[in-house]
Amino acid sequence: MIKENVQKILNELPEGVELEAACKTRSCEEILEAIGAGVKIIGENYVQEAEKAFEVIGKRVRWHFIGHLQKNKIKKAGRIFDMIETLDSIKLAEELDKGCAAIGKVMPVLIEINSGREEQKFGVLPEEAKGLIIELSGLKHIKIMGLMTMGPLTGNPEDARPYFIETRRVFERIKSLGLPEIEMKYLSMGMSHSYKAAIEEGSNIVRIGTGIFGQRV
Ligand SMILES: *Cc1c(COP(=O)(O)O)cnc(C)c1O
Repeated sequence: MIKENVQKILNELPEGVELEAACKTRSCEEILEAIGAGVKIIGENYVQEAEKAFEVIGKRVRWHFIGHLQKNKIKKAGRIFDMIETLDSIKLAEELDKGCAAIGKVMPVLIEINSGREEQKFGVLPEEAKGLIIELSGLKHIKIMGLMTMGPLTGNPEDARPYFIETRRVFERIKSLGLPEIEMKYLSMGMSHSYKAAIEEGSNIVRIGTGIFGQRV
């Protein structure tokens, strides 16, 4: 079913919107099947899991980190990933900058927005994003390329829409500043149940797990 699911989603996506397969807990065989069907971006929540898959799959796809990055995993993450979607603090950014400097890499990053203002969630509040981005603009080994949000997990995609709208608003506001060192290009929003609403609200990367691979067991 993985192949059919990927093809169905790819056929539905408007031009300019990219599909990212959210691969937590999936086997290399499953991930390879998705790649065979046309997936070009792999989203990983855990560095260790990504490392295993990366050994087998390698650079034929782009690797995005979508979990919570721990300091002791930064060097490994720097090597594997083509983008970190979950940057949410100065401290983490400085560590990542240092780690990427050490391997001579400039890492594209997205700032994670806690659009649902949930206490237990990672990400910065919408009104904090601009300040963080300005503070980070001096770091030479990360490149800010947009925003990512999860939003509260609900069954109904319409419940997610206001959070997508708010994140889009922050995205456009920051883009309009025309800051020289950043390039507001990517807006990563929408999961299996909510990606259609997310695209309507401006998303250009949708992160889909169960919609491709089925329920996690
Ligand atoms: C698991 C995950 C997804 C995909 O969720 P599904 O509901 O399985 O589509 C998207 N983004 C992040 C950050 C995730 O951890």
